[in-house]
Amino acid sequence: MIKFLVDFSTANWMGILWCALIGVGLGLILGLILFLCGHFLEVKEDERVAAVEKMLPGYNCGSCGHAGCHEMAEAIVKGEAKKLSVCRPGKKDKNYDPIIAYLSEHPDKDGNYQIPEI
Ligand code: SF4
Repeated sequence: MIKFLVDFSTANWMGILWCALIGVGLGLILGLILFLCGHFLEVKEDERVAAVEKMLPGYNCGSCGHAGCHEMAEAIVKGEAKKLSVCRPGKKDKNYDPIIAYLSEHPDKDGNYQIPEI
């Protein structure tokens, strides 16, 4: 005969069931709150940042003075980075010219163009 450490015959099954239901209910409510926060509080990034970042070399070396290519792309799009040549690994035909061409065709939401120099 097998003996268990816990005597299941005297377990409070209703208490266990309520604990499980409360745990599942809390999980669902908190999950719903997280979903709603993610949906309504989402900060949308300027889509030009991702496009410009793809045109940068992608080494994330920081020699441009920014933490990485993403931050450099943000600075370019905002007009804070005036010269593309601060990106030392960048090449004129492969990186700088495509970025200038792209930003010449894609103004910000107010219709202003932030076109950096080489
Ligand atoms: S210098 Fe160029 S490759 Fe290096 S992090 Fe800056 S943008 Fe990226």
